[in-house]
Amino acid sequence: MSRLKEYLSDPLLRLLYEEIRSAGPVRSVSLDLTHVCNLRCKGCYYFEEGMDRAGEGSDLALENWIHQELERGTNFVTVVGGEPSLQLTRLKKLYDHFRLSVASNGLIRIPKEGFENLPIGISIWGTKYTDSKLRANGRRDLFGEALRNYAGDERAFWYYTVAPGHAEEIETVVEQCIRNGNRVLFNYYSDLSGFGGGLDYRKGFQDVAEEIDRMIDRYPGRVLTTRYFNRVVTSGRLYDMNWGYDVCTNVSVNLAQNQFRMSNGQPYNPHFRAYNADFASTRRCCTGTSRSCDSCFDSWEHFSWIMLHMKKHLGSQDEFANWLGTVFMFYFTTRLVKNSDGDAILEKVHRLGVNHEYEWASK
Ligand code: SF4
Ligand code: SF4
Repeated sequence: MSRLKEYLSDPLLRLLYEEIRSAGPVRSVSLDLTHVCNLRCKGCYYFEEGMDRAGEGSDLALENWIHQELERGTNFVTVVGGEPSLQLTRLKKLYDHFRLSVASNGLIRIPKEGFENLPIGISIWGTKYTDSKLRANGRRDLFGEALRNYAGDERAFWYYTVAPGHAEEIETVVEQCIRNGNRVLFNYYSDLSGFGGGLDYRKGFQDVAEEIDRMIDRYPGRVLTTRYFNRVVTSGRLYDMNWGYDVCTNVSVNLAQNQFRMSNGQPYNPHFRAYNADFASTRRCCTGTSRSCDSCFDSWEHFSWIMLHMKKHLGSQDEFANWLGTVFMFYFTTRLVKNSDGDAILEKVHRLGVNHEYEWASK
C-alpha cells in the first residue's frame, strides 16, 4: 500500500479519497418498491424478464424487511421497480431508515418535503421524439413532463440511456437537461426486446462513447460519467477481465444459483441482494433473472465492478486517478459525500487520469 500513500500525496486525490473514506463503507441492496409502473417502455428489463410476477408485499412486509435489513447492516438501498413514485408513503419509510438512490421516470414529482436529500435518477432514452416513441408509442411528451417536474431540482440527475444508433441525439438531450438545472449520468441501452437496427447493442457503442466524451469536455461540471467509466462500460474491459456474469460484483449472495459465481475467486459485493417487490424473495441480480449478461451495460453494476477493483488500478498514479475519479462520481451522484464545491469539483475530477485507447469488445 506504499504506492497508495505516494499517490495520496497529491492534494486533489487525497481530498477525494478522504471524502469517500469518511462516507464509510457502503452495504447496499436493491429493492423493487412496487411491481407497478405507469409506463411500458420498449426493452424495459423489469417487464421483459417478468420480474413483476413476484407480486407486491404489504405494508407489514415492508416493515419487516426494513427491520431485517437494518439488522443485517444494510445502509444503502437502490430503489427501483416498477415506478417508485407511485408509492411515496413506502418510499418515505425507506428514506427514514437508509441512504437511498431512487430511479424514476419523472412523471410524478417526488416532493422536496420529507425527501430533501434524496438522489433521484430520472430516466430518459433520447430526444422527446425518441423517448416518446420507445416509451409511450409516440403519444406523450414524457421528457417535457419530467423536465417540468424537476426544473432546478438539485436532487435530480438525468439517467440518460443511449442506444448505439442514437449518438447524434446526445448533445440536444444533454443541453436540455443542463438548461433545466440538472446533471447527467449516462447509461447504455440493452435491446432486450430484439428490435435491432440502431437499438441493437451488438453494433457497439463506439459512436455513443465518443459523443459522451465530447459532452464531458463541453460540460465537465454537469456530467457525472467519467471518461474512464465510459470506456470501461462500452468496451466491456477492465484490465484482464471481460464484463459478464463471472466477474459481475452485484449478484444476490443469498441465492444458491450464485454460489458458483462467488466461489470462482473474483471479488464480489458480499452484502448485496436484489429484492423483488414482495419484500422477501431475491433474484439473480438487480437487472435480471435469466437474461444474457452480454446484453448488460447497466451503469450501476459497472460502478460496482470498478469500485471493487482498486488494487488493479495501483500501477500508476494516472490509473489510480481513473479509479478514484469514477468512484467519487458514484458517491457524489448518490449524495454519499457532501462536497459543496459542486461543478468545480466535477471539473477537477474530469481532468484526472488518462484516456486509454479504446478497445471495442465484440460482445
Ligand atoms: S419507466 Fe422504468 S420500470 Fe417503467 S416500464 Fe419504463 S423502464 Fe420499465
Ligand atoms: S445481467 Fe448484468 S448485473 Fe446481472 S448478473 Fe449479468 S452482468 Fe451482472
